[in-house]
Amino acid sequence: MTYTFIPAPELLDSPRGRRLVGATPSALMVPERPELPPTASAVIVGGGLAALSLAARLWHDGIRDYLILERGPRLGGQFFERTASVGQMILRSPYEHHPGAEGHSDCEMLDFARLNWNHLTAIEQNEVRMAQSGQRAVAPLDVFEGFCSHVAATHSITERSRRAEVQKVVADGDGWRVATDRGDVRATAVVLAVGEARREAPDGWDTASERVRYWDEPCEPIDGRHAVIGAGLSAAHIVADLCARGLAVDWVFRGKEHYQCADVNAAFFRPEGRAIFHLDSLERRWAMLSVERRPSIMFEFRPRLRAWEEVGLLSVHRETVVTELRADPTGVALCIDGGAPLRVSQAHLALGTRPPLAPEVSGAEIRTHGGLPLMDETTLQISGITGLYAIGALASLALGPATRNIDGHRVAAARISTSLRRRLGSREA
Ligand SMILES: Cc1cc2nc3c(=O)[nH]c(=O)nc-3n(C[C@H](O)[C@H](O)[C@H](O)COP(=O)(O)OP(=O)(O)OC[C@H]3O[C@@H](n4cnc5c(N)ncnc54)[C@H](O)[C@@H]3O)c2cc1C
Repeated sequence: MTYTFIPAPELLDSPRGRRLVGATPSALMVPERPELPPTASAVIVGGGLAALSLAARLWHDGIRDYLILERGPRLGGQFFERTASVGQMILRSPYEHHPGAEGHSDCEMLDFARLNWNHLTAIEQNEVRMAQSGQRAVAPLDVFEGFCSHVAATHSITERSRRAEVQKVVADGDGWRVATDRGDVRATAVVLAVGEARREAPDGWDTASERVRYWDEPCEPIDGRHAVIGAGLSAAHIVADLCARGLAVDWVFRGKEHYQCADVNAAFFRPEGRAIFHLDSLERRWAMLSVERRPSIMFEFRPRLRAWEEVGLLSVHRETVVTELRADPTGVALCIDGGAPLRVSQAHLALGTRPPLAPEVSGAEIRTHGGLPLMDETTLQISGITGLYAIGALASLALGPATRNIDGHRVAAARISTSLRRRLGSREA
């Protein structure tokens, strides 16, 4: 018998901002104390979801002398701001993907959701039931945020975090000097956990106008017709938000729209999928990363997008390349390869993200392929550089397409923590 996935678009309307049992929102606030400790066994550069996963794991492995340096006011703040900016109300990844440490008897995100059963809508409760029976089911973003705050509070992560922008990481004797806008910290090991930067428009596109908006810039839509460029989930959220307001949308992207549950094939979240990735040549890994990370949209969007297209509110320009974008005070013109220009009141750019090899590392040469560092797959240490690690998208060549997802952070956290325990064990004891 074959089963057909029946999408529930109402899930996309989940509420955000509920006061949840077991959440400690203040635990995500990075302490404002100006002074940094002069030394730490390990410094984690960036306090996003990957850093939370790693810190939870370090706690279980008994490594307490670490320091998270985050430039923003909140742990995970970049992720929560970005999802709020596109109007995303539910996670795309399933309940079992969360930043808690794997293999320990902590409260998991599904337990946390059950604790908050009375706060959930009927459709969210149904997702919990599906997750309990082992099916794909997703969590509301505020449940995820509440759970992250619970992880930060219960693993004493907040007090090991400081607000600082890391400018440079410098090899210094048998350790590292981490230079920040608030002073230096010396560390035995450094973990780059800097997340991803948005992909910018091609040179020559006129993006300075207020009529051109990137996906991660919150804005109130201008009256009139809108263009959304990009084929991924953020583009879909922006299209849906505009259409729900009754605004006409031209949606432009290179290929055809592609619907799937997760943003990478689910096999890559499992050991057998990671084993497929461990082919010997870097070229083949690079090719697999490019193919597997193509833009896609959750099934839940399909009924609404199709209905808006049928009534003419949404015009979808498939297999269409924008060659130029010009803005003036009255609107935006998109030059389309092989077609008449589109003229709209406002253009929204959702061109994806890319892992930046940042901040600058000096005194050690990082070998790269396609802009990504070569790494030891067992430890996630950058090849040939003792004590310098990377987690998140930067670890893609070692862990494969799922590295950029919450589940990938947990796998990476376990490997880095095991390596740090060996390296730091005697110093911490
Ligand atoms: C709209 C959107 C929705 C997504 N939905 C999902 C989903 O449902 N499931 C999923 O698994 N993944 C999802 N992702 C992918 C998601 O971004 C990652 O799983 C996760 O946020 C990556 O964690 P990270 O710590 O690597 O990066 P981030 O969470 O972005 O954290 C990086 C942190 O580093 C800080 N930083 C950077 N440079 C410096 C510096 N020099 N000094 C100090 N701090 C610095 C930043 O301020 C930031 O807080 C989504 C991504 C986007 C954009």
